[in-house]
Amino acid sequence: MDSLWISGPQAPAACLQSEVEADVVVVGAGITGLVTALRLAEAGLKVAVLEARSAGEGNTGRSTGNLYATVSTGLATLRRKWGDGKARLAVQARQEAIEWIDRTASRLGIDCGLRRVPLHQCVISRESPSFEQLRGEHEAALALGLAAQWSEQVEGWPLSPAGVHSLPDQAHFNPYRFTAGLAAAVSKAGGAVYGHSRVIDIDAGEGRVKTPEGSVRAGHIVLATHTPAGFNVLQAEMEVYREYGVAAPLQGDGPADASVWVKDGKHSVRTHRQDGRRYLVIVGEKHKTGEGDPHADHLGRLRDYGRQNFGLGEFTHAWSAQQYTSADGLPYIGRSRHDNVLIATGMGADGLTWGTVAGAVLEDIVRGRDDTPLAELLSPRRFTPVKSARSFAAENATVASHMVGDRVEALRSEEGLADVPLGGGRVLRVDGETCAVHRTREGRYIALSPVCPHMKCHVKWNQSEQSWDCPCHGSRFDTEGRVLEGPALTGLEPRQIGQ
Ligand SMILES: Cc1cc2nc3c(=O)[nH]c(=O)nc-3n(C[C@H](O)[C@H](O)[C@H](O)COP(=O)(O)OP(=O)(O)OC[C@H]3O[C@@H](n4cnc5c(N)ncnc54)[C@H](O)[C@@H]3O)c2cc1C
Repeated sequence: MDSLWISGPQAPAACLQSEVEADVVVVGAGITGLVTALRLAEAGLKVAVLEARSAGEGNTGRSTGNLYATVSTGLATLRRKWGDGKARLAVQARQEAIEWIDRTASRLGIDCGLRRVPLHQCVISRESPSFEQLRGEHEAALALGLAAQWSEQVEGWPLSPAGVHSLPDQAHFNPYRFTAGLAAAVSKAGGAVYGHSRVIDIDAGEGRVKTPEGSVRAGHIVLATHTPAGFNVLQAEMEVYREYGVAAPLQGDGPADASVWVKDGKHSVRTHRQDGRRYLVIVGEKHKTGEGDPHADHLGRLRDYGRQNFGLGEFTHAWSAQQYTSADGLPYIGRSRHDNVLIATGMGADGLTWGTVAGAVLEDIVRGRDDTPLAELLSPRRFTPVKSARSFAAENATVASHMVGDRVEALRSEEGLADVPLGGGRVLRVDGETCAVHRTREGRYIALSPVCPHMKCHVKWNQSEQSWDCPCHGSRFDTEGRVLEGPALTGLEPRQIGQ
């Protein structure tokens, strides 16, 4: 079972098997990489896109598909950290990005089910601390020029909220179908899109990226890989989370078309029309990557919520994805410490719209316009010690505790191979060596080094997703040790154990 979005046709993209020259190489074909690539290709530049899987199959195809001018961490916080002028600039850029997506889907005839809908943020219990926060959020939205409305009902939804803050004329869509359409448009505009071409080495000095079977040399390297591939100092500033989604077909009329955030339950719920059916999508159960209860049934809890609150029956889709949140509330978009390497990361739960903003900002930078107010606001080189302090300190304390604590825990562990359950995983000592051991449902052991090649933290077992996840910077590996996502460029080393 996978995401509701990953369906429908996608033109096959060849694997890179030669040495290629381009003006710009874009690594990553999610919404960020493809909006950037399309804008640059349509401006007449020679663009090559390298994607480890297929377009849209990363976090873009596993998001909720909501497009909104606000930010999920709240406009009140954004105003407090950045002041009204900069917060307004960010909100306007996001609103323009929604209009760009809407126009581009129409212009290119991309059938991605985009609908203009309201975004309702509601609180069910008046006693919840979220109630006062939502009132503050409503005031912040009005102060920043958004046409927000306050009410006590989510129109057409079976919810009984104490307060509702609504933004009209936002949007939702199928993000995978949109990116698949963008990939086709990049090729049509003269760009080259390579699939199944994982970048395993980045040489900024030479301006070259390498895949197992080829390489691209380019004047600019855009790392649209969600978090910069390889080592980047910004990784120390970001927190990494996983979140889960489920979808079920609606019987009868169901709720009105809308996107709804139930703030006190921390659920994001939306409708979607696809291939003649209507669905309800529920997203939530967020936790830090590599932390929390490794055995929790996150998807089961979301399904229970859907059954209890919306009378849903059979669930047809289930998925999960990752988020990287910045320390100061805005994403990092622009030049990294190497002038020719551009990045877009730290977009939190709002990266469909930020990724589209990134496309415009990165196009400007490649074309020599570094000094726009937006490029300056979002620059990864900004230094915001006051705005970032709390989150930066907390995150690095967490990383330090994993670096040391997880090693000590493994040394102290008295568990042996027999303690690894069928279909489970444990980090334990085998023949004097610390190993990450998975036991398949058939009883076969697969042993790997537990050391994440990115920054040498120990990985943790993730039962719901059957993966090894690094709690430090979010690299994830499958049971054979292959990279699934995150900054690591290489996999976990295999270990030989007697079975
Ligand atoms: C559960 C959930 C729901 C969300 N819902 C929303 C929402 O409703 N609205 C919203 O705005 N945001 C949402 N987000 C956030 C949003 O999904 C992301 O911020 C956004 O998709 C980021 O897009 P991207 O193109 O930067 O990254 P991705 O879509 O992850 O694309 C990066 C691509 O790079 C590729 N890649 C990585 N490393 C390499 C390499 N070494 N070589 C080649 N290719 C590589 C990957 O395969 C991937 O395809 C949600 C996030 C989560 C976790």
